[in-house]
Amino acid sequence: MEKHNKNLIRKENGGIICSHGDFWIDPARPVKRALITHAHFDHISFGCEEYICSPETSVLLKERIGKKIKVKSYGYDESFKINGIKISFYPSGHILGSSQIKLEGGNEKWLITGDFKRQRDETCLNYQEVKTDFLICESTFALPIFNWDSTNKIVNQIVEWVNKSPNMTSILFCYSLGKAQRLLNELKNKNIKNIYVHSNIKKINDIYIDQGINLEDFAKINPGIKPKDYQGSLLLMPPSQNKFNLLKRFGDYQTAFASGWMLIRALKNRSGYDKGFAISDHADWNGLIKTIKNSQAKKVFLDHGDGESLAKYLSIEENIEIESFKTKQ
Ligand SMILES: [Zn+2]
Ligand SMILES: [Zn+2]
Repeated sequence: MEKHNKNLIRKENGGIICSHGDFWIDPARPVKRALITHAHFDHISFGCEEYICSPETSVLLKERIGKKIKVKSYGYDESFKINGIKISFYPSGHILGSSQIKLEGGNEKWLITGDFKRQRDETCLNYQEVKTDFLICESTFALPIFNWDSTNKIVNQIVEWVNKSPNMTSILFCYSLGKAQRLLNELKNKNIKNIYVHSNIKKINDIYIDQGINLEDFAKINPGIKPKDYQGSLLLMPPSQNKFNLLKRFGDYQTAFASGWMLIRALKNRSGYDKGFAISDHADWNGLIKTIKNSQAKKVFLDHGDGESLAKYLSIEENIEIESFKTKQ
């Protein structure tokens, strides 16, 4: 019988290393060769000698790390090899360019999902199901309470929230890369007076538009505009801007946060936002289960967050062998 030694990769120093291939995946510190699933800051490290990723991620990496970095990019339909290890990228549906990474070497097949979601999102390619022997699956929202409402329902609630307060500036905080663009795509033809975005979001919007993604019209927040002019409009800003002395210039305002975490009432109350909209770029409970089952993996490792409930459910209900993907000392 074929033996699965799970030797090909392991977790070390907050990243994933493939010693045979002499490369890392989403390293947390500078390394010689880094495969990158997507361009969120918790998945990239500055100062690597070489980055390898999808073409869209390479554009985003240059924006975030610097134009001079050395990047090799491969499309979703082209496998390549490094030191005898076969590598393929597949869409993960998380943000523009986000990839799952499949590695094949010796007699082992591994799939690293990276961050992913199963909901439709017109700003990136849909998640592609891939079969594997070993699966490293993100488990950020691995509790049964996390079941996302339809995107359209949440977006309509956002529109209602803005339009119900025509004399206020409505400030919606969201991540600059991915969430902001997904919202702008979903807000197409939704009848909001004006949409303004923070300069960090504008930079990423320009890249998305350049890549052919359809976004609702927006303008950059301009220090010259008077508070009155923002009344009845929607402003998209990164969470780092949620400070009274930065926001008071918008006059009378209300705030909200767009994140999957807003499904937890206690978190929502503690967050200090007036309102929370539970829209996420990660898989929910059912999305995680479906993905893990359909991968037909012989062994599953949960990465990110506390996957204890999911591990218990999968081993009892589905008889799937599961382990937490912890750093070995
Ligand atoms: Zn991410
Ligand atoms: Zn992440």
